[in-house]
Amino acid sequence: PYDGPSAAEILEKRQRHLSPCMSYFYKNPLYLVDGKMQYLFDESGRRYLDAFGGIATVSCGHCHPEVVEAIFNQTKRLQHTTALYLNRASAEFADALASKSPGDLNVVFFTNSGTEANELALMIARLYTGFHDIISLRNGYHGNAAATMSATGQRSFKYNVVQTGIHHALNPEPYRGIFGSDGPKYAEDVEEIITYGTCGHIAGFIAEAIQGVGGIYELAPGYLPAVYSSVRKAGGICIADEVQSGFARTGSHFWGFEAQGVVPDIITMAKGIGNGLPLGAVVTTSEIAKVLTSHGYLNTFGGNPVSTAGGLAVLKVIENEKLQQNALTIGTYLKNQLLALKEKHEIIGDVRGRGFLLGMELVTDPELKTPATLETLHVMEQMKDMGVLVGKGGLNGNIFRISPPLCFTREDADFLVATMDYIMSKM
Ligand code: PMP
Repeated sequence: PYDGPSAAEILEKRQRHLSPCMSYFYKNPLYLVDGKMQYLFDESGRRYLDAFGGIATVSCGHCHPEVVEAIFNQTKRLQHTTALYLNRASAEFADALASKSPGDLNVVFFTNSGTEANELALMIARLYTGFHDIISLRNGYHGNAAATMSATGQRSFKYNVVQTGIHHALNPEPYRGIFGSDGPKYAEDVEEIITYGTCGHIAGFIAEAIQGVGGIYELAPGYLPAVYSSVRKAGGICIADEVQSGFARTGSHFWGFEAQGVVPDIITMAKGIGNGLPLGAVVTTSEIAKVLTSHGYLNTFGGNPVSTAGGLAVLKVIENEKLQQNALTIGTYLKNQLLALKEKHEIIGDVRGRGFLLGMELVTDPELKTPATLETLHVMEQMKDMGVLVGKGGLNGNIFRISPPLCFTREDADFLVATMDYIMSKM
């Protein structure tokens, strides 16, 4: 049993000493003290089904014993920088990551977060091509530092410190987008940005295959092949931000971009790759990677022994426990159940996503698609009270984000849907 300070004491300290912009998800902030696979426990020992941990970090399940053991064993032996010395875990994890990456993407730079991975990818794109302009998508999220905040296409995450030379293309999303599901049509906007907004040459293009923070928008079919071709024609390189959609989460593929049949020049990843450890990576070709040899490039803790030992264990668990298959089977089942719920409750405007990266958009008017922001908050709050945690996102806060640990079961899916159904029926 937990015998530490109360939730109220923790909250008081947090309000006094932690970043004032940290938000609370719930009216009474949840104080979590333990995690086990798809479950979380608060200080009173109450259990919650976690249908959002995947986006936060967790792929294999909270405190998966094999991952914990790998971290613990490495911690007991050595934790140090890998910038100067040989290290077994980072070499072996890089080898394993390269084998999971398509084409000749086989050189890995380790970082400590998704932001760092994307910052590095954007810098490599600019150095390698010698050009400056970057194209990203409206509504995308790529991180909180200079280049990544600039590439992020959501006003709620931008301060007035953005870089020049970053352009945001139309978001190719079928639910509200002007061209419906016509991916190549949206791709023309990228071509136009290159023509009218740049010197005709660009450094690169970055996008998520399924926008996470933005509210689970999957890129319209045919979008990436057309865009990648325009970008490469303009001398740029293509970056796939797989921080949320990578590592088996979409079920149908290991990487989200694979659903569009493209191969990027750089893949960036974080979150799920460490099952909760601060760990990120950039994977690219040896030819592109060479641009970083003309000057030093140092990251003290990128690829440190403890994080990479954990990362290697995560990959093994995903494979041994067939978690990608589970994401496909149970994720598809869950999506179908949510689609059935949409037939019953008019407030559900859209259900979308793939595998265990699912979204549900609530609207007060199905024709006008008016965001049901307050209702979303209400359902989310009530779900928490009934023991189920889901996330929320999108510019108007009216989209549920469902991204559980990959060990989520059919019974968990049923419980989530039944809870949602019960609450919506009473609204
Ligand atoms: N890219 C995507 C797609 C993300 O969702 C996030 C985090 N929400 C990031 C990059 C940034 O990762 P981090 O918070 O680890 O810096």
